[in-house]
Amino acid sequence: MRFVHDTLPQRVHFASGEAAESLTAEIASLGARRVMVIAGAGEREIAERVTSGLPVVHRHDDVVMHVPVEVAERARTAAAAHDADVLVSIGGGSTTGLAKAVALTTGLPIVAVPTTYAGSEATPVWGLTEGSAKTTGTDRKVLPRAIVYDASLTLSLPAALSAASGLNAVAHCVDSLWAPRADPINRALAAEGVRALRTGLPMVVKEPDALPGREQALYGAYLSALAFASAGSGLHHKICHVLGGMFNLPHAATHAVVLPYVLAFNGTAAPEAEERLAEAFGTPSAREGLARLRDQLDAPRALRDLGMPSGGIASAAEAVVAAAPADNPSPVTLPAITDLLRTAWEGAEPR
Ligand code: NAD
Repeated sequence: MRFVHDTLPQRVHFASGEAAESLTAEIASLGARRVMVIAGAGEREIAERVTSGLPVVHRHDDVVMHVPVEVAERARTAAAAHDADVLVSIGGGSTTGLAKAVALTTGLPIVAVPTTYAGSEATPVWGLTEGSAKTTGTDRKVLPRAIVYDASLTLSLPAALSAASGLNAVAHCVDSLWAPRADPINRALAAEGVRALRTGLPMVVKEPDALPGREQALYGAYLSALAFASAGSGLHHKICHVLGGMFNLPHAATHAVVLPYVLAFNGTAAPEAEERLAEAFGTPSAREGLARLRDQLDAPRALRDLGMPSGGIASAAEAVVAAAPADNPSPVTLPAITDLLRTAWEGAEPR
């Protein structure tokens, strides 16, 4: 066995119902005195509840998916105007993403309180959009210093959004198994992530108001993000990045639709990944495990239902082939990717 693995420095608090206490402890340990809270309008009430004991100098609710550059600029200006010395982000990946955009240029530390299963809080990856072009990059400055996981804050996330967001997390795990920097550590994290998510997500959809499923799902989402941060983007993430940028599709639902097609495409050429996933799903094959989970979650099935135009398949396929990792288990050819995208667009059986 021979590998090089980076472990990222970050404290993780995990305790349902204790976000306020964990945040107070974290802000004190950072020695911060001027908190800028970033939370979208939908998460305002949650944010006010968990930050009422903090020295807040500004509450910023101007959050937009995929972090348009002008939205990032406004948040940076607000951080400077209020002389903030720490950012507390409370929300999904879009909110964490905005805090990262501020940290990127100001160096301010972030304490992230996630309320979806997107996992951005555990990665040093930032993203900004200008028009229809999304740029991403990696910078240790944007990695939150601490994460506060409180599953009670996810109880309000509707079942359908929870399912899509949870499948986004499953996709982090699956893609990590063949991504460019896959190693034994991130493969182990990914397998445990799949186990936790396939246990927790059906419980969430069945009983959205109960904590045990939410806790399993949030724990699995964290592991999935660690695996993804360490292994990098595999074919699945490259496809979703292209589709999201070209057609402005909803992030989590796009991942949820595309994953079974990439698993079918790569699985037979990656027998070790297939075996590990089957074991984590607790089913005879990985494809069966994912199909069963998707059925239980009533997952979105077709790219056309998300608003992708059929006329976009050819240009998207070309962009995917150009962006795909060179060492993907199955050869990434234009006919193969065109076929994959057409099948995913129709929502037909994965081949
Ligand atoms: P999101 O943050 O846009 O949230 C989706 C919706 O859920 C929003 O309307 C939000 O208000 C609502 N919501 C969030 N928490 C809620 C709660 N507890 N109760 C009720 N409603 C709630 O979506 P997302 O899928 O979490 O994040 C997507 C974004 O994150 C994309 O821009 C994606 O590129 C980015 N992302 C980045 C990374 C990374 O490593 N940098 C990883 C994953 C995702």
